[in-house]
Amino acid sequence: MSADLVDDDFIDDDDIPGPSTRGKKGGASGSKSGKGKDAGRHAWEGEFKKSWDIVQEDEKGSLESAVESLLARGRRKRALMADTPLRRSIIRHMFIILDLSESMMDKDFRPTRFEVILGYLRSYVVEWFDQNPLGQIGIIIMRDRLSEVLVPMGGNPQEILSVLSDKRRLEPSGEPSLQNGLVMAKGGMSHLPTTSSLETLIIFSSISTADPDGPVTIHNVLEELVTNKIRTTILSLAGEIKICRQITERTGGKFGVSLDQDHFKDLMWETIPPPATTIQSHTPITMGVKNALSSANGLQKGGKTPVGDLMVMGFPIQLPLGGETLCSCHGLLKKGGYLCPRCSSKLCDVPTDCEVCGLMVVSSPHLARSFWFLFPVANYGVLPIEDVMNSSTSETCFGCDVEFPDASTIDEGVAQVEDGVSPTGRYRCAKCSNDFCADCDLYIHDTLHTCPGCAQ
Ligand SMILES: [Zn+2]
Ligand SMILES: [Zn+2]
Ligand SMILES: [Zn+2]
Ligand SMILES: [Zn+2]
Repeated sequence: MSADLVDDDFIDDDDIPGPSTRGKKGGASGSKSGKGKDAGRHAWEGEFKKSWDIVQEDEKGSLESAVESLLARGRRKRALMADTPLRRSIIRHMFIILDLSESMMDKDFRPTRFEVILGYLRSYVVEWFDQNPLGQIGIIIMRDRLSEVLVPMGGNPQEILSVLSDKRRLEPSGEPSLQNGLVMAKGGMSHLPTTSSLETLIIFSSISTADPDGPVTIHNVLEELVTNKIRTTILSLAGEIKICRQITERTGGKFGVSLDQDHFKDLMWETIPPPATTIQSHTPITMGVKNALSSANGLQKGGKTPVGDLMVMGFPIQLPLGGETLCSCHGLLKKGGYLCPRCSSKLCDVPTDCEVCGLMVVSSPHLARSFWFLFPVANYGVLPIEDVMNSSTSETCFGCDVEFPDASTIDEGVAQVEDGVSPTGRYRCAKCSNDFCADCDLYIHDTLHTCPGCAQ
């Protein structure tokens, strides 16, 4: 009898319905584990959400509509972004600090953490430069308690990709030293102007750091990171580590612990859009440029719109692919390239800082692209079913000319605005009042960055 009771209890406990803890943690970038309503309940204790339970057949017995709405919900979540105005840094300098300790060979990611992270990094770099055309990335690796600059800070994704595909050079070994990695990143950024956003992204696979014995500890390094305003984001593959959380909190970065492979990718991709800046402009501005507007103090809590700083940039002259000339950045004979507008030295690639005079050399398309985040297309509103029924709206999507579903066929009881998904399949631009389909909505906000209706 008593055995039966125990058994019943056990089953009861296991069958508690409720939201999976996993989903919640994922939403809060995995950082606030166990602080929600389900405190004390761990992810592995939560109910496993069976994907076949969520999907429900429609009246015709087909799964098509259910799958479609799931997809739409996912897309919508990505498309919706914060509408609050922010001051963003368009010039970013970032060191990716990669933990290449033995723990990277763990097989909890398939085939290994190492393989997965390298694959992610390659697409991350491409995506990052696409969205931050004026940014620069360098890569530092930590292994055998040492750190090493794998790729110096630069604006050329091809250079980084070629290094990242050389796996033999990246063989994981030993233990990482977080302190050495951070010191190296700080040193690599010391010459950079304060107008740009200085960042590090640490991909940390171990659960400990083996730092050098000596008078300087990781806490001193942390203080220096804070004074140098180096925003540090740490993504952990293993678990939450106190010092990592401290570092990210003090420097204004983010701390994330991955739940699985896909979640790790999400965490990484969250760091791609330019961060809201907190840079104070009391410090002297780059390269002797006078701080034109001295009152710019970043976005203050009071909500006053910040005034801008001025900085010097030059548009280069592109050279024809004629004879070979010596470049100033590598000291090599190369065809083509660009001329610095100030000192006329030859540069291989833009955007870059001129090696001779230090001028920031950018091309105008790069500059234009970096405006995406400064003047984003506002989110399109969801059109409720009443509006479609009561007013004369266009039959087709303004973007792709695909016909919208007939409003009269939609069951009003079912059709509710859920998770920002429009039951009518319409999304309306508030400015130009044109309707778009879900696909166009995503395309406009993700890729095009301008509303075709408003542009007319
Ligand atoms: Zn060169
Ligand atoms: Zn120059
Ligand atoms: Zn469309
Ligand atoms: Zn519009």
